[in-house]
Amino acid sequence: MAIVFDQAGKDLRPRHPEKAHRPETPVLRKPDWIRVKAPNGPGYGKTRDIVREHGLTTVCEEAGCPNIGECWEQSHATMMIMGDTCTRACAFCNVRTGLPAALDPAEPAHVGEAVAKLGLSHVVITSVDRDDLADGGAAHFAATVRAIRTHSPATTIEILTPDFLRKAGALETVMTAPPDVFNHNLETVPRLYLKVRPGARYYTSLRLLARVKEIDSNAFTKSGLMVGLGETREEIMQVMDDLRAADVDFLTVGQYLQPSRKHAPVERFWTPDEFKSLEAIARAKGFLMVSASPLTRSSYHAGEDFARLRAARASK
Ligand code: SF4
Repeated sequence: MAIVFDQAGKDLRPRHPEKAHRPETPVLRKPDWIRVKAPNGPGYGKTRDIVREHGLTTVCEEAGCPNIGECWEQSHATMMIMGDTCTRACAFCNVRTGLPAALDPAEPAHVGEAVAKLGLSHVVITSVDRDDLADGGAAHFAATVRAIRTHSPATTIEILTPDFLRKAGALETVMTAPPDVFNHNLETVPRLYLKVRPGARYYTSLRLLARVKEIDSNAFTKSGLMVGLGETREEIMQVMDDLRAADVDFLTVGQYLQPSRKHAPVERFWTPDEFKSLEAIARAKGFLMVSASPLTRSSYHAGEDFARLRAARASK
């Protein structure tokens, strides 16, 4: 579908064309423990202005993240590179889907400048899936990491990448500009992949994480899960074991929230005590760092958590 803009420059394509004929499911009322700050502080406004000024896309906005008020108040924005349109169609994700525009070769420099301006000690860079590109966008990731190192040498860099499915050599290209943390989310348990993450393969994602350590044994690896999609506790235990077998250091677990009636329904809300229990089990299984709470997201408190992760490895 051709990209059509209105006079204000707004993209008029349907946001999720592949979901147009899906049945609508009611959105469950959120429990009391899912409460977020309204996005209206001065820090929030400053972050928004820098994001706009540099023409950046953030996953905070595109995914409708509930933590945006808190994170942007502290200048923590997660940049989403390679456009705002994803070539996959995951049932949980609010990012626009369809045919993406061509890559912007100036984007890595713009991201580097924005990171310097925001004064970030730690930054998370993620992207849409770009299955249309021969390398899945691997070289663009590496260029972005290099640009941040140039513009803001003291900033530590975490990348949250797609799976680069069927893109031979992509991971090796990314790792030519090694990040401080390599994050790739498994998102859910293998039984739910066809329903929740239909374009992905559980073992491909797991293998990607294991390969990072084979390429660079000093790298920190991280992965995340959403709960509330119908998974069982036993299935989560198995995923934790699989991640430990792939030598993943850091696990995040958060509650899935349904972005619209066309997205996968929330089967249930896990309670704060259940998250605490998952965290205790994950630590016992040997993860260096675990963040598990209803509002945990991959990039939530990523800077503080990276400092803890480094300290945990050092003390080991
Ligand atoms: S948790 Fe991550 S995606 Fe959400 S607002 Fe914070 S930085 Fe952005």
